[in-house]
Amino acid sequence: MSFKDLGLSEPILKAVTEAGYENPTPIQAQAIPLVLEGRDVVGASQTGTGKTAAFALPSLSKIKPIGKPQILVLEPTRELAHQVAEQFETYGKHTGCKVALLYGGVGYGAQTEALQAGADIVVATPGRMVDHFYRGTMRFGDLKILILDEVDRMLDMGFLPIVRKIVNLCPWKNALNKPREEREEKFKLREFADRQTLFFSATMPPAIQGFADFCLDNPAKIEI
Ligand code: AMP
Repeated sequence: MSFKDLGLSEPILKAVTEAGYENPTPIQAQAIPLVLEGRDVVGASQTGTGKTAAFALPSLSKIKPIGKPQILVLEPTRELAHQVAEQFETYGKHTGCKVALLYGGVGYGAQTEALQAGADIVVATPGRMVDHFYRGTMRFGDLKILILDEVDRMLDMGFLPIVRKIVNLCPWKNALNKPREEREEKFKLREFADRQTLFFSATMPPAIQGFADFCLDNPAKIEI
């Protein structure tokens, strides 16, 4: 199995070759076709397995630079957010898409400028993400892919209520395309749009499984 067989776009394949990756890791081989197909995905996977590229490569493959947030990645810490933003920059360098990195504990100026300069991909910690929403500097209307990474760590750090709030701000995929009054309870209030959710957690205790059920629509499960 090579990266070429997985259906990634040319600019992404070029960046992968330049990164020196020869073959997809097992999680990449599983996740990439599912994400390209439009499925929601839930993955139990540790770092060090190539998880970041497993979600970044197909997500980047699906968007064009329009200067509005289309991919939102939530990370529990600023260090992780930083690393993931860097990987999106590397893999997306031939796409023309821009990345904004948002986290707390620093001023808003540079982050607001990155959003206003036309970020297509936003990588953020949850609290700062919501702050930008309330300031009117982050809009969710064009969001196509929401990626929740390291959800077990977000639970440990007490972020799940705020992540739930962010999920509720996103356009919601309703695969069945039913009128609002016929939708399942969890879909009722949301605008529907063809938005995907990718959900990663090293462990899946009941609290996280319940949260995954809330976030995901008929997800494909991958385990490494
Ligand atoms: P992650 O699990 O996302 O933290 O990735 C672990 C490391 O593996 C990162 O430094 C990546 O650059 C690297 N990596 C990811 N995918 C591949 C691949 N297919 N071949 C070689 N290295 C990779």
